Amino acid sequence: MRTAERLSIMYDRLLSEFGPQHWWPADSALEVAVGAILTQNTSWSNVERAIANLKTAGLMSLEALSSLPTGLLAEYIRPSGYYNVKAGRLHNLLALINEHHNGSLDDFLDQPLPLLRTELLSVKGIGRETADTILLYAAHLPIFVVDAYTHRILVRHEVVDPEYDYESIQELFMDHLPNDPALFNEYHALLVCAGKKYCKKSKPDCSACPLEGV
Ligand code: SF4
Repeated sequence: MRTAERLSIMYDRLLSEFGPQHWWPADSALEVAVGAILTQNTSWSNVERAIANLKTAGLMSLEALSSLPTGLLAEYIRPSGYYNVKAGRLHNLLALINEHHNGSLDDFLDQPLPLLRTELLSVKGIGRETADTILLYAAHLPIFVVDAYTHRILVRHEVVDPEYDYESIQELFMDHLPNDPALFNEYHALLVCAGKKYCKKSKPDCSACPLEGV
């Protein structure tokens, strides 16, 4: 079976099993960016608690987050783990937006994909997955987000070799699917669903999984 056909069948099966996921779970582009950093190395439920702290305190704005001392920001986001590191990373991103885009998130996000990706990757603490999450879910640009679930599922189905790196897997999706941010959005969310429910690190539940046999 050709790769494009296979990826398409996988998508259809996942969508019919899980339905549309309406990602990213956030009320604003800023909240997407904050969540993308806070979700590094932790579960989403912890991120939700950290974001709730910020929103309850009326701090979910670029100005409020920027003017908060890093140590205090760390306290608000403590539930997300690695809170001192993540507070620093958030402030690194906000400093870039303040210094190079006059404090305008819209201006920052309204750049061609290669330029915005380069800027994001220049921020200390923002790697490819975090940058691409912001590009896809905050800026609505067509780039595929690759995470550990994606890698595991593709390797187990022998679509890629285990040593395939982030860019190789990203290219595989982007070379074989329509260049559609809505599709990339949904596909990534569905792979996360499959990874969490069936394709666990140990003991994958293949007999119940919609991707069995694809
Ligand atoms: S659980 Fe099994 S069938 Fe499902 S994605 Fe993982 S390896 Fe494939």
